[in-house]
Amino acid sequence: MKFTDLHIALETFKKGNPLIVVDALSRENEGDIIFPADCSTPEKVNFCATKGRGLICIAIDIATAERLDLKPLRTNQQDQFHTAFYDPIDAAAKHGITTGISAHERSATAKIVTDTNATPNDFIKPGHLFPVVAKERGLLEREGHTEASIDLCKMTGHYPAAIICEMMQEDGTMMRREELLDFAQKHAMPIISIQQILDHRILTENHVEHISQAQLPTKFGDFTIHAFKNNFSNIEHVALFKNSNSSKKPIVRIHSECITGDVMSSLRCDCRDQLEKSMKRIQENGNGLLIYVKGHEGRGIGISNKIAAYALQEDGLNTFEANEKLGFPRDNRNYQDAIWILKYFDIVDFDLITNNSDKLNTVLKNGLSANITQVNSQVTGYNERYLKDKINITKHQIILEQ
Ligand SMILES: [Zn+2]
Repeated sequence: MKFTDLHIALETFKKGNPLIVVDALSRENEGDIIFPADCSTPEKVNFCATKGRGLICIAIDIATAERLDLKPLRTNQQDQFHTAFYDPIDAAAKHGITTGISAHERSATAKIVTDTNATPNDFIKPGHLFPVVAKERGLLEREGHTEASIDLCKMTGHYPAAIICEMMQEDGTMMRREELLDFAQKHAMPIISIQQILDHRILTENHVEHISQAQLPTKFGDFTIHAFKNNFSNIEHVALFKNSNSSKKPIVRIHSECITGDVMSSLRCDCRDQLEKSMKRIQENGNGLLIYVKGHEGRGIGISNKIAAYALQEDGLNTFEANEKLGFPRDNRNYQDAIWILKYFDIVDFDLITNNSDKLNTVLKNGLSANITQVNSQVTGYNERYLKDKINITKHQIILEQ
């Protein structure tokens, strides 16, 4: 059994039902039961107490802690994961709370936390429910269960507070990956990793910021050059923009950086040829955008690995086998930053210069409208096998020019 598809898990969470969320093997290597606090019931809390067996906490955001005047517990800074425990609470007696520990009472306390009209007077401190406060940017800042909980709430429209409980086996030891997967199967619960939530956020949220722009006269025409930065990966991209004739449908090239081809005129690939032809086409059309995507060397494996892959190709492997031999996927690129850059320029319907259907599919999946337009690829004595492997193995639609 493997992890649940994230979208299925999000549907479950949206309905208020619990998930199992596991962190990295290299971190705590634990699983927590997590469900939104605004959908808390005594049964769900009791499930945590009897099946989860860990400490039952309520993950909250900093705004909730401030509204309820909760303060961080004193720390001696020895916790390597810096879990942010705050004053434990019970709902006040006026809410019918007696000892605060029963599943009914802890569930009631959790629900009152999510009531935006609740004030510090609605709680007594210390109590039996343990608030843990998430970092403001969630998993982008800290890869803990606390942040995962608040991210899940935000992604599914719940109040940013969730019950979380670590999972222990009957014998008192912690459940590890295999036991967690078995538990999930036995109780028909979705099980996901923190990495899945983080990956989803990185892909779906716009971290690409426009930084600067200037005029750029080139051999092929005059463009405006724009610099962008992905504030999460710190990768900087550039884009050449032209719209001297805005009545024309824009032409777009999403060009993967290739220092050997683009800068050094390598004959091993057709990158420079494609780059120059794209610039000429955009110039002629008078409307278009060339996005130069950094971080895409060697289909996303980096320049050092690309050169290692070249060495393997000298020993007879093809370009895809070489990437795989080095332990990478055939193609490790993602085009999400390019999509945000297209959206920045408000280019939503265009002709895309490519021979790679993956690029077209990414564009279409993101709600943009594009048709493929091709430029011929110049065959040299050195790139013929590379181009033919692309045609035969990954079904690139390349028009070869002898
Ligand atoms: Zn290249």
